[in-house]
Amino acid sequence: MRLILLGPPGAGKGTQAQRLVKTLNIPQLSTGDMLRAAVAAGTPIGLKAKAVMESGALVSDDIVVGIINDRIDEPDAKRGFILDGFPRTLAQARALEAMLAAKGLKLDAAIELTVDAPKLVERIVQRAAEAKAAGMPARKDDDPEVFKSRLGAYERDTAAVTPFYRERGLLHEVDGMAPIGDVAKAIDAVVSEVAAA
Ligand code: AMP
Repeated sequence: MRLILLGPPGAGKGTQAQRLVKTLNIPQLSTGDMLRAAVAAGTPIGLKAKAVMESGALVSDDIVVGIINDRIDEPDAKRGFILDGFPRTLAQARALEAMLAAKGLKLDAAIELTVDAPKLVERIVQRAAEAKAAGMPARKDDDPEVFKSRLGAYERDTAAVTPFYRERGLLHEVDGMAPIGDVAKAIDAVVSEVAAA
């Protein structure tokens, strides 16, 4: 099973991806994690990516496409994988399509956790206020301004990617604002449907 999981910060993508890793027994391939590991290890890619990542911009398509190309050849990805944080641009989506075709592989589905952005911001603001009232240190990720900017970046990135998969009949939208259990059920229904196809 080869899946792409799309979803903004705060939509529960991490929770769902980790659950799928266990139920499907395939790895989660996160370009963000791989790039952070390259930065930490001081590899040539890490050295190139460090400043770009720190500025919040996107690393070049060539770098991330190269990382994914190598990673999906690893033995643990032979049975499939869940892509997380990739593709982020139309060029990456096209490169992935070409790369998989060259390896004789195909994508099964791109699952997008959709959110109501104003409601999601409200949730985060409330969570930050509750944490503050309880005397807990505020999480930087929950700072409403930081959160809004990450959400905006996600919306800009995926604006080009979702139509690409919709045109190919691969896009499945799941309501990410629903309770966790319902999101899990909806994702599992997509997985069963594409597995049976
Ligand atoms: P993430 O953990 O997915 O939010 O990624 C952290 C950072 O890594 C991003 O802000 C980008 O600088 C970089 N990054 C991760 N995935 C990609 C990608 N597919 N294309 C370009 N840059 C990426």
